[in-house]
Parts: sequence; C-alpha cells; structure tokens
Amino acid sequence: MINDLLFDAPLPPAIPIDGEERKFPVRRIFCVGRNYAAHAAEMGNEVDREAPFYFTKSAHALCLSGSEISFPLATEDCHYEMEFVVAIGEEAFRARQETALEAVYGYACGIDLTRRDLQAAAKEKRRPWDLGKDFENAAVIAPITRADKFGQPESQRIALSHNGIVVQDAQLSDMVWSVPELIAHLSQYYHLLPGDLIYTGTPAGVGAIAPGSTLLGEVDGLQSVSVSIGQCE
Ligand code: MN
Repeated sequence: MINDLLFDAPLPPAIPIDGEERKFPVRRIFCVGRNYAAHAAEMGNEVDREAPFYFTKSAHALCLSGSEISFPLATEDCHYEMEFVVAIGEEAFRARQETALEAVYGYACGIDLTRRDLQAAAKEKRRPWDLGKDFENAAVIAPITRADKFGQPESQRIALSHNGIVVQDAQLSDMVWSVPELIAHLSQYYHLLPGDLIYTGTPAGVGAIAPGSTLLGEVDGLQSVSVSIGQCE
C-alpha cells in the first residue's frame, strides 16, 4: 500500500495491563471536575449536583508511571491530583447506569497534573482550561488492572503521598458521581469507545510539586502510580 502521509503518524500511547502481554492503546482522555465535595470546597467551589462536568486531555499528555519528568513548562504552581481512572473496553452510547460497568475494561491509578496558576487565570477570564490541564506529561497513569480482577468501585481507599507524606486520603465512595453515573452521563455526549480513559476527579488535599518532588498514589486493589519531578527545562 502506498503511504500517502506527509510524515510518520505517531502511534497512540499504550498502557501496560497487569498480567497481560498486550497493552491498552489510548484514544481519548476525559476528566471529571469537582467530583469530591471536600476538594470542591478547598478550591472555593460548591459541587454542582445537577450534572457532572468535564475537560479533556490529549492522549499525548500521557505519562507512564515510574517516569522522571521535567518540571512542567510555564508554571509556578503545578499541583498533583490523585485520581481513579476508568479504562473503557467496549462501546458505550447512551448507556444505562444499571449496565454501564459492562463497558469498562479495567481501572488504574492516575495523577492529573494541573498548572493551577494558568487554570486560575483562565477561570478568572472565563477562558478554557486547556493551558492549565492539557500539557506534556500531565496525565500520569499506572498499569491497568482488569475489572474482573478489581471488582467494582466501592469504598476502596484512594491516597497520595508527596515526598513520603500522605496528603490525599479518601474513599472511592466519596465521589459525588459514581462510575456508572459518569459513564451513563458522558455517553449521552460521546460514543465512548475502547481506548477511552475517564479520570474521575480528585479528593481533597491537592498541592504544589517542586523540582525533586516524588509522588506515589494508591487505590486498594490497583497497582500504584508514581512519578518524580526533575528540574525545569
Ligand atoms: Mn482532576
């Protein structure tokens, strides 16, 4: 076949799967805002109980757990946000809550790195959050555990340590919108497809990283996520 591409198209980033040879290729990354009441409060917001809301990150913002990354560009206030991540394995379109988990391939620990200063400036000017949220290495992800091994998201502990000190500590049951509710809602707006990820929001306790920081995030039943932060470029 004649290749008519101007340059080589990048392969999609792919995530290792616990106990599997093959990896999970990533399509889109959806992220839920304000899904833990205590985090919404610490950011000076109230939880919107009408409907969840989302932002997105490019698949090329992914960063595999265990990496050392440069301190993110153009920020003086980059925050960690520990998150429970849902990996979609089957199409979900206008899914019903009762059957929504059938679309889930597995789950992983993730960290939503956020340039909080840029996000705050965007919020103030009512501009989009892209510069604050969607940047290189901003979506840290651990290997995926299959749903049949993990079971269902219930009251598992979700926690993150910064330089060995526990700074975020909550339970998945603290989420305002549950995983089935999120899939049912989001699939009214998109055909969710295999390879899509949903970062389901962060508990309270977010804070700033610095060059030399190490982050270690855990959810009961999943492989931990870690990343270390090097110097600025
Ligand atoms: Mn987040």
